[in-house]
Amino acid sequence: MTLLVQKFGGTSVGNVERIQEIAKRIASFKEQGNELVIVVSAMGDSTNQLTKLALEVNSCPPPRELDMLLSTGEQVTIALLSMALIKLDIPAQSMTGSQVGIITESAHGRARILEIKTEKIRELLKEGKVVVIAGFQGTSLGSGKTAEITTLGRGGSDTSAVALAAALNADACEIYTDVPGVLTTDPRKVKDAKLMRTISCDEMLELASLGAAVLHPRAVEIARNYGIKLVVRSSLDNSKGTTLTSLEKKYIGKEGLELSRPVNAIELIENQSVIALSNIPDQPGIAADLFETLSKGGINVDLIIQSTHQGQTNDITFTISEKDLPIAKLLCEQLINTLGGELTTQNNMSKLSIRGAGIMGRPGIAAKFFETLSRSGVNLRLIATSEVKVSCVINSELGTKGLRCASEAFNLKDKQIKINPTTNFLGEPEVRGVALDPNQVQVSVINVPDIPGSAATLCRSFADAGICVDTIVQSERKNNLDSKSISFTLNKNDRKAADNALKPLLKSWPNSYIQEGTGIARISAVGSGMATQIGTAGRMFRALANENINIRMIATSEIRTSCIISEKDGDNALKAVHKFFKLGSTE
Ligand code: ASP
Ligand code: MG
Repeated sequence: MTLLVQKFGGTSVGNVERIQEIAKRIASFKEQGNELVIVVSAMGDSTNQLTKLALEVNSCPPPRELDMLLSTGEQVTIALLSMALIKLDIPAQSMTGSQVGIITESAHGRARILEIKTEKIRELLKEGKVVVIAGFQGTSLGSGKTAEITTLGRGGSDTSAVALAAALNADACEIYTDVPGVLTTDPRKVKDAKLMRTISCDEMLELASLGAAVLHPRAVEIARNYGIKLVVRSSLDNSKGTTLTSLEKKYIGKEGLELSRPVNAIELIENQSVIALSNIPDQPGIAADLFETLSKGGINVDLIIQSTHQGQTNDITFTISEKDLPIAKLLCEQLINTLGGELTTQNNMSKLSIRGAGIMGRPGIAAKFFETLSRSGVNLRLIATSEVKVSCVINSELGTKGLRCASEAFNLKDKQIKINPTTNFLGEPEVRGVALDPNQVQVSVINVPDIPGSAATLCRSFADAGICVDTIVQSERKNNLDSKSISFTLNKNDRKAADNALKPLLKSWPNSYIQEGTGIARISAVGSGMATQIGTAGRMFRALANENINIRMIATSEIRTSCIISEKDGDNALKAVHKFFKLGSTE
């Protein structure tokens, strides 16, 4: 028999009629012979209403009491839906998170799931019942031995559903929602955004964290880590929706369901070269010219980093395979001759990367990686970060040492360690989707001492304050004080906290200070095929140049290319890139 976990969100159960509709739909799934575990959210916007009530009584509600209150929203839905099912002669029983045994950490309002007990659910399924479970909630064991009600964070019932599917080893987890599935971009901004049939969990994680929030990112992490088939589809019709794919099925280890080690692989890629063009003009079209030229020369560029412009000029740095250096150098020299600026190249470099799900969403991970390397005396030439991978470019002589130290720090086993793995093109599109995140600010720390460990220290300060930074770019230029600048982008809401987090550090670095960039937006293209196809980044830069949009920062990772642009250019950029890669439904 097929065991399905199906989740219905707030709008899908927004009123009595909708609940009755959903009950009919569940009844037909049941009649087809499926075993069903149903997870529901609170009705409509009732979680918002409850939050509002709380704030009316206390502008700073104690987290324990807030969880006690918010968890009631889902309890209403499970009871009503079960009643509706029973009315249709479908045996059903509701269960709260604590009745099931959804055990979480004690962090109220953002608890991660440690374990889910499955015995009671299985008993009810055996009796032929549909089990209706409250999403978003769990219980922690609490200090006083009383089980405490916790919630997983807003939007968390997606996470409840996928975690249940993992614990029950279900055949699939289906998320029913008010949109037809995952689209190639935000349909409110781009009219012809198209439904994707499939997307990998890694690609989805890169898009989700960038603002294409259809799914709670933690739900995607769980699906990826345990190889759960996850489907997002409409609760309003029978269309197939989008299937999220992940590699292999894995069983839940002892470390905790959601806390299972976020880093699950490390890889070292040797024989890399770094090419840096500095003091080149800061104008639309330069990056496009450069990377188009390289792509015409058949050169696959890996990481690309452009730091924030200083005065009228830019620095662009990128990595390629060492064998391509002579021709790449020639092409860059020709360009520099017409543009002005300087060219430097560096051979004997290696790229060391950690992989996992939701790495940048757990700010301590990148900090730990950089710290481990700097403690082992490994200097970081370049840094590239993304949700599923953090990479450093380092000197080859220190490659194996860095690999060993980082593998130990993250407790990785031999089979998780890869040296010069081959990546094959599996036919995935170079760009699957495009996202715009208007909620970022760009912060540069000027006059950071140019010594190993500075980036690590900065990341540690952010991590200790719970701040997730995204793009991290170290400038190429040193100024006369033998210092450099490091730029970050972070969420607008964290801006104040970032000041506080960096205060002690800035005191200890002479002449250092924080500079905030003017309004920015981040546009990102994501696609697994990007890693192996030549010229994707150049095409993205061309799409922006065609609209006369200037790029302020570039940061790429294996399956994502992100550009920081002016806030005012955001919507235009999104449309242009979406169209350039022919992602629309009218293409
Ligand atoms: N009811 C919760 C919320 O509104 C959880 C969810 O719907 O996923 O955030
Ligand atoms: Mg949701």
